[in-house]
Order: sequence, then C-alpha cells, then structure tokens
Amino acid sequence: MDEFDIVVIGAGVAGLSAAATAARRGARVAVVEKLGAGGQIMTVERIENFPGAVEPVAGFELGPAMQEQAEQAGAEFLLDAVEEVLLDGPARVLRCSQGEITARALIVAAGSSRRALGVPGEERLEGRGVSHCASCDGPLHRGKTVAVIGGGDSAFDEALILATHAGQVLLIHRGESFRAAKPTVEKVSALENVRICLNSTVEEIIGDNVVQGLLVRDRITGASRRESVDGVFVYVGLEPNTDFLKGKLDLAEDGRVLTDRFMQTSLPGVFAAGDIRHASVALLAEAAGDGATAAIAALNYLSEGFEKARAVE
Ligand SMILES: Cc1cc2nc3c(=O)[nH]c(=O)nc-3n(C[C@H](O)[C@H](O)[C@H](O)COP(=O)(O)OP(=O)(O)OC[C@H]3O[C@@H](n4cnc5c(N)ncnc54)[C@H](O)[C@@H]3O)c2cc1C
Repeated sequence: MDEFDIVVIGAGVAGLSAAATAARRGARVAVVEKLGAGGQIMTVERIENFPGAVEPVAGFELGPAMQEQAEQAGAEFLLDAVEEVLLDGPARVLRCSQGEITARALIVAAGSSRRALGVPGEERLEGRGVSHCASCDGPLHRGKTVAVIGGGDSAFDEALILATHAGQVLLIHRGESFRAAKPTVEKVSALENVRICLNSTVEEIIGDNVVQGLLVRDRITGASRRESVDGVFVYVGLEPNTDFLKGKLDLAEDGRVLTDRFMQTSLPGVFAAGDIRHASVALLAEAAGDGATAAIAALNYLSEGFEKARAVE
C-alpha cells in the first residue's frame, strides 16, 4: 500500500491545478484518475474564457498540458478508479479497482458526469447516433440533420460546432428561454442552418440500429411530432460524482460537497475542489482556483499536523 502526503481524486482542471500547486511546494502527491487528463474538457474543441487564452484553446490540449506541468512539478499519476474512501482514521484510505492507496490529506476533485435524458432509445443508441461530443462525432453527420438537446452553455457551444458540419441543427429545449451566455445564444440563433424549438421535450429517440428520429412533444399544445434526425447530442445538465462519498462527508441537497472558503469539507484534512463543490460556478477558471486553494489548505493542514506531532514529542 503506497502512502502519499496528498492524494487528489480526479485529473480535471481542479485536480491538476491542485496537484501542480502541492507538488511544486514539495509534497508527495498522487492523482488518481479513472479516464484521462482533462475531465469534462477532454472532448471540447474551443475554450475561449480560460485566463490568458487570447486564441481559443482546445480542451484536449489543455488537459494533457496541465498534466505535464503537474508531472514536471513531481506529481505522480495513477490510472485507476476510486471505489470507496475510508475517512475515519488518521490516514485516508482509498480503495481503488487495482489496490489501496493512503494519504495524509485528500483533495476530492471528481467533478461531474453528464445527466442522461432518460428516454427510450437513449441508452440503446448511445454511440450509434447518440453522442455528447460535437468535435468527435460532428464530422460523421456532414450535410445531415442533427439535434442538440439542452439550453445551457454546453448545448450552445456544441451547436456552434455542429452547425459547421451538419446541414441542419435542431436545438431543442424544454424551457421558454436559455441559460447559456447571451452572445453565444445570439451567435447560434443567427445561423441559417439552426432551427430552435423552445418549450419542447424529447420523449423518445427512434431508430433500430442507428438514430433515425425523435419524438418531440410541444409543452404548450401537448402535441407530439416526429423529427427526422441522424444524430442526437445531449447536454441536459450534470450530476456530481459523489456516489463514493455518500455517508462519509456532508453533502448539500444537490449532492455536491459542502466546503468552507478554504475548500475544507466537514472532515479535517479532506478538501474538495471544482465542480464537485457545492455552489461552484462550474467554470474552468474557478476549478483551477479551487484546486490551488485546496492544495495550499491541505499543505497548511499537513504542516500544522507536523507542528502538533513535534510538540507532543
Ligand atoms: C461540453 C462542455 C463544455 C464546457 N466548456 C467550458 C468553457 O468553454 N469554459 C469554461 O469555463 N467551462 C466550460 N465547461 C465547464 C468546465 O468543463 C468544468 O467547470 C470543469 O471541467 C470542472 O473541472 P473539475 O476538475 O472540477 O471536474 P471534471 O472536469 O469533471 O474532472 C473530474 C475528473 O475526475 C475523474 N473521476 C471522477 N470520479 C472518479 C473516481 N471515482 N476515481 C477516479 N477518477 C474519477 C473524472 O474521470 C474526471 O476526469 C464545459 C463543460 C462541458 C461539459
């Protein structure tokens, strides 16, 4: 069983920032990540609001670059999934699919996962026309009709990319207005090949082996209609990845981790950063800031621990 000063769960922007900050200050740091560096931005083509990004930066470049920076600072990366955490003893034990790791302090930066639409056909046609990545799958639908479902920033950013590939993009949203940033909404709405359907819910994704259409209900008239589409891109919100923390830490009603402003959770020595944190604004700049704050707080926690141990000796 390997022991680290600080273990970070998740190699999204929050976790990578935390790892680089803590390792740069000399701590022995490990990052446990189940997929790959970058988290949610792994498939994002254009990020325009990351500090210093005068030209848009691709998420699939930013993630690996941040990993490299953290590795250069001395952080170690473990490709593994944390399945359970034991937080009641002096050391934090992480049960991963390939073994156990212990940490003197823990930073939870496990982020969020996409919420499913929860309609018939969605699971069955995943990867057969149902997608969550416009840059990856948009080119497969060149000249065809695709639907984007959602009304937030992700839906609009991805619709912009899809509009460069598809013949027509249907943007379907259950509400009567959008949550996405106004300039992006205006940009997308002005595109000739985008058709916006408000007050509309998708009831079924239709298709035998591949997506062929959608059953859409107008929430005002109650009438249902079939729309022929070749691809469906779903962006209907995110769920925090907190299953392994339930009953171990105080969580808010929305399932996210409660912290103070130093990213300290309800358990001393356990910190949380990024989208997983209650009241996070879910932006990359905040994730990076949270990660740095959590790292410094964890280092302070460890050095105070050292001081106390020395005083007892
Ligand atoms: C399509 C899309 C576009 C976006 N565009 C922008 C943008 O342009 N600008 C902006 O500011 N924000 C954008 N965002 C929001 C931004 O991506 C998030 O706020 C940010 O990525 C959160 O980072 P994080 O590190 O907290 O979590 P995440 O990015 O979710 O990373 C968490 C990591 O933890 C890992 N993990 C989870 N559970 C475990 C486990 N049990 N064991 C091991 N590893 C685990 C996951 O695999 C993941 O890699 C976008 C989001 C999406 C979905």
